[in-house]
Amino acid sequence: MHKRISYYDCAIIGGGLAGLSLATWLGRNGFRVVVNEKRTYPFHKVCGEYLAMESVASLSGLGVPLSSWDLPRIQKLLLSSPDGAVLTRGLQPGGIGVSRYMLDSALAAGVRTCGVEIREGTKVEGVRFEKGTFQIGTSEGSVRARVCCASFGRHSNFDRKWKRGQNLGASDRYVGVKYHARLDKPDDVIELHCFHRGYCGISPVEEGKHCICYLTSEKNLRAAGNTITRLEERIRSENPLLGKALREAVMLTGRPVTVSQIGFSPRNRVNDHVLMLGDAAGMIPPLCGNGMSMALHSSKLALDPISRYLQGSISRESMEREYRVRWQSQFADRMRAARMIQSMILQSPLANLLVRTLRPFPGAVDWLIRQTHGPAPF
Ligand SMILES: Cc1cc2nc3c(=O)[nH]c(=O)nc-3n(C[C@H](O)[C@H](O)[C@H](O)COP(=O)(O)OP(=O)(O)OC[C@H]3O[C@@H](n4cnc5c(N)ncnc54)[C@H](O)[C@@H]3O)c2cc1C
Repeated sequence: MHKRISYYDCAIIGGGLAGLSLATWLGRNGFRVVVNEKRTYPFHKVCGEYLAMESVASLSGLGVPLSSWDLPRIQKLLLSSPDGAVLTRGLQPGGIGVSRYMLDSALAAGVRTCGVEIREGTKVEGVRFEKGTFQIGTSEGSVRARVCCASFGRHSNFDRKWKRGQNLGASDRYVGVKYHARLDKPDDVIELHCFHRGYCGISPVEEGKHCICYLTSEKNLRAAGNTITRLEERIRSENPLLGKALREAVMLTGRPVTVSQIGFSPRNRVNDHVLMLGDAAGMIPPLCGNGMSMALHSSKLALDPISRYLQGSISRESMEREYRVRWQSQFADRMRAARMIQSMILQSPLANLLVRTLRPFPGAVDWLIRQTHGPAPF
């Protein structure tokens, strides 16, 4: 019987876009890599499923057959405020719509062809760094590795250990809710509807479906007695366009996919010598529609320092420093801009004012979008 290797060059915690892309690149370069993913592919994830064009080439290069999936090409934005004002704008270069169900599992299949081991249904419970080696404790036994990367997403069992987001109150923590639905809407438009302490994206994905995904504060959920049904009754009444869309939508999933304890406060890029990738290094507000791109991009930034460390050309300290510096110079400004825009959008009076003020100035909308995106493609 084939014996599992238990000593790796790199162990990755979490098999989303950040973890899987890094695993593929390292695997192709001949490194021994293991990805630990607590769930089993394919599975649904809370995400608006708008994939910015800047990452399409990277994903295709990673073996995801996006061009053969006949995906909707999204080239327009419709933004509505709680008082019903509407702003529309062309998106350049825009994006495509694809479900995480398809995307992550195709990426995982590609990873396996590079000799990377994926341990599905394996939750990482702890990491210890000793004498230059990581001991990674999982629900399926432990493994050892020279480098460890955490790409466990926006919230994990490590948050307490690394004191991440522990001081956030209910108004600074958010919940995300997602459905797939049938809706009579054009397949080249992403809609973003603002409501009190939240916003909802509606965008087309594969097979003529739409993804309806909203983010709102935990305070809103509590005020609705912690039930999604009552929360959605309130949301429907807080933006006329969104209310109409939600009434007309034929939901394809009985129960939505949900996620809680989302926070947007800045995070460390390295914790106890573990390199943090994707959302684990800091989450950009979803209204920007480029969290997936940033997850891929952060792994690309980590690839070179990790490879050189594994080849013995730089020290661990240099690898960590280089990654921190690269991350900071690529993402720090756009994270700040995105947080500022989100804080306005989440307050109804400001969202009303913003949409009405921006409507006659399309150039200003383009400028705002540019502040939250990098030069494409990376
Ligand atoms: C409401 C909402 C809407 C969004 N809309 C968009 C959008 O339209 N476009 C866009 O580009 N981005 C969007 N995003 C952001 C996007 O979803 C994320 O930025 C992206 O998924 C980050 O990828 P990741 O690989 O860092 O993490 P994830 O994709 O979250 O992957 C993390 C993985 O780690 C696993 N994991 C967690 N803990 C452990 C553990 N202890 N052991 C093993 N495995 C573990 C999880 O199961 C998961 O599969 C949205 C986010 C939200 C909340």
